[in-house]
Amino acid sequence: MEDMSQSPDHPTPEFMSVSAVQCANCFQWRLISSQEEYEEIRENFIQKPWFCDDKANVTCQDPSDIEYDATRTWVVDRPNIPKTPSGFKRYVHVRKDYSRADTYYILPGGKKVRSRTEVESFLEANPGYRDAGITVDSFCFTTPKIMKETIPEDVEVGSSNKKKMKRSKMDGFVDEYE
Ligand SMILES: [Zn+2]
Repeated sequence: MEDMSQSPDHPTPEFMSVSAVQCANCFQWRLISSQEEYEEIRENFIQKPWFCDDKANVTCQDPSDIEYDATRTWVVDRPNIPKTPSGFKRYVHVRKDYSRADTYYILPGGKKVRSRTEVESFLEANPGYRDAGITVDSFCFTTPKIMKETIPEDVEVGSSNKKKMKRSKMDGFVDEYE
């Protein structure tokens, strides 16, 4: 009923989030431990598909790190989202009722923004970032897709009356997105 976990300026993810990427050759999922590395792979995914070999000491012959199944809720990013500029932080928050995900950025200084317009005015007010090559196109507010079949069965999507769920969330991305 009450939702104490969402404090706008201090995001406390209610999910444990891990990121995975799918090999373009064997289609197995591999865990990517660093957010930065994940963002780099995602940014270039179309031009530069990812293979198991790109991960240290892993080949396509190794069993997958993680299975795409309903033991976790999967949230699938669109490929080629620009890597978050240094000093900024990109977050995806999945609503408790799984109805949708929201994408936002934390600006240097801690302000939370949810739209290109807000980014625009920040860059306007802080031209130093523009000089460093950061533009509004360095930001992408596209929301990832919540994979319906991985939502827990006892969740009524869209219902606001939910108790807190201890459940991990997967970030991943696929080629087709819609
Ligand atoms: Zn592979």
